[in-house]
Amino acid sequence: MVRELSHYVDGQRVTGTSGRFSDVFDPCTGQVQARLPLASGEEVRNVVAAAEKAQVQWGAMNPQRRGRILLKFVDLVNENMDELATLLSSEHGKTFADSKGDIQRGIEVVEFAAGAPHLLKGEFSDDAGAGIDVHSLRQPLGVVAGITPFNFPAMIPLWKSGPALAAGNAFILKPSERDPSVPLRLAELFTEAGLPDGVFNVVNGDKEAVDALLEDPRVKAIGFVGSTPIARYIYATAAAHGKRAQCFGGAKNHMVIMPDADLDMAADALIGAGFGSAGERCMAISVAVPVGEKTADALVSKLTERVKHLRVGHSLDKDSDFGPVVAASAKERIEGYIQSGVDEGATLLADGRGLTVEGYNDGFWVGPTLFDHVTKDMKIYQEEIFGPVLSVLRAADYDEALRLCSEHEFGNGVAIFTRDGDAARDFASRVEVGMVGINVPIPVPIAYYTFGGWKASGFGDLNQHGADAFRFYTKTKTVTTRWPSGIRQGASFIMPEGS
Ligand code: NAD
Repeated sequence: MVRELSHYVDGQRVTGTSGRFSDVFDPCTGQVQARLPLASGEEVRNVVAAAEKAQVQWGAMNPQRRGRILLKFVDLVNENMDELATLLSSEHGKTFADSKGDIQRGIEVVEFAAGAPHLLKGEFSDDAGAGIDVHSLRQPLGVVAGITPFNFPAMIPLWKSGPALAAGNAFILKPSERDPSVPLRLAELFTEAGLPDGVFNVVNGDKEAVDALLEDPRVKAIGFVGSTPIARYIYATAAAHGKRAQCFGGAKNHMVIMPDADLDMAADALIGAGFGSAGERCMAISVAVPVGEKTADALVSKLTERVKHLRVGHSLDKDSDFGPVVAASAKERIEGYIQSGVDEGATLLADGRGLTVEGYNDGFWVGPTLFDHVTKDMKIYQEEIFGPVLSVLRAADYDEALRLCSEHEFGNGVAIFTRDGDAARDFASRVEVGMVGINVPIPVPIAYYTFGGWKASGFGDLNQHGADAFRFYTKTKTVTTRWPSGIRQGASFIMPEGS
C-alpha cells in the first residue's frame, strides 16, 4: 500500500479532495513511496480563507511573543533533527549529513527572524517641521505565499516563512511535489510550538494550485524559488495581479582559479561544490575556470584523480559522498547533457552515465562527470544542468575569466581562488554576480545577510533573509504628527469661540 499524503490547513492534516495525485519516489530505489494530492483552485481558496482569518490575531500579537514561538519551533526542529533529516533524504536523495545541513541553514533564518522586535522598528524624526514629528511603521501584508523547489525542502520554506511569520503575516507554503513530507512535518512542529492554527499552512499541488495563489487578491506577496522559466512566469503573473514578488531562478556558477591559488585547496573545493548533493544545488559550482594552461593542466590532473575516489551510494550510507538525483526525468536530462557535451567536442574525462549501485538497481544514479576543454558556445556551458557534471573552461588570463563570469546569462554565485588580495578585491568589485566567494566555493550568505542572484537568477528588488526579508514581508506606513498646543497654558474658564 502506498501512503497518501495530505495538505496542512488550520492546524491539521487535511485530505485532498481534487482526485488528482502525483507520485513521490524514493530516488535510491526508484520506487513510488507515497502519493501526493494536488490541490484544486477551490481547495487553495479555502486555505487562503483560513489563513486570512488567522492572520488578524497573529498580526496583532506583539512581535516578541511571535519571536518566542519561533524559538520554540527551532528547539523542536533540533529535537527532531534526525527524523527530519532521514525523511528529507528518503524523498530527495541527498545524504543524511547534507539533509541536516539543509535543515540547519533553514532554522538559522528562523533564529534571525525571532529578532523581529528589533527588525520591525520604524524610523522617527523629531521636529521635521515646526511642532511636527514624523515616524514610520512596518505592518504585516496579511496572507503571503511561498512556492519552493525540490532541492532544499526544509531550508527554502524556512527562509520564506520565518521572516514572513515573524513580521505578523499568515503563510501558505506550496512546496515541491517531489519532496513534500518535510514541509508537512515542519507545519506540525509549528503547531506544537504554539503557532495559532491557520497561520502556517501547506497546500500541495502543481500549476493549478500555483495559479490559484497568483490570482487570489487576498494573497499579497509571492516568494518563489525554482527554475528560471517558472521564476519569470511567477514574477510576471504576480505583478499582473498587483502583488509584490521575489523570484529566484537557476544558476551556472563559475569558480576562477588563479595561477597563485592553492591548487589542492581549489580542487577539494571544486569536488565538494561540484558534486555535493549530486550537483542539485543552486550554488553548486558547475564551471571551473583555471587561468593559464599551466594552472589548467595541474588542476585537471588533481580533479581527475579525486573524481576516481568519489563514492555514490544510498543516502543513508555514511560512506556515500552523494546520493542519487531526484527523479528518473532528471537522470535522463543530465545524461542528455553529457551526450551533448561529447557531441559538441568537449573532452570527457569522467563519465557518470551507466552507474549502478549494488542492491539498488532502479535508483536514479548518475556518477561524477568531468569535462575539460569546454567552450562558451557549448550547450553544457550555456545551460543549467543541475546534476553532478563539472565543466572546465580554460581562460587565457584574468580578464577573460572575469568576463566569462560576468557575461553568463545567470548570476547567482561565483568564486575566485587566489592568494592575491588585489585580484580578489578587483574581482569582488567588478563581477556581475550577486554572491561572491573568495577562497570559499559556495558563498551562501549567513542568515543576517541577504541571499539573491542577479540577471536570470533573480527577479525582484529585495533578497531573501537578512533585513531585506523584513522589507519584503511588511508594508511601510508613515505618520506625520502635530499636536495642538494649549494644555500647558492651564485651564481656561472662557468659552472657546468657534472659528
Ligand atoms: P521548478 O521550477 O521545476 O519548481 C519550483 C516550484 O515551482 C515547485 O513548487 C513547482 O511545483 C512549481 N512549478 C513547476 N512548474 C510550474 C508551472 N508551470 N507553473 C507554476 N508552478 C510551477 O524547480 P525545481 O526543479 O523544483 O528546482 C530546481 C531549480 O531551482 C533549479 O533551476 C535551481 O537552480 C533552482 N533553485 C534556485 C535557487 C536560488 O536561490 N536561486 C535555490 C534553489 C533552487
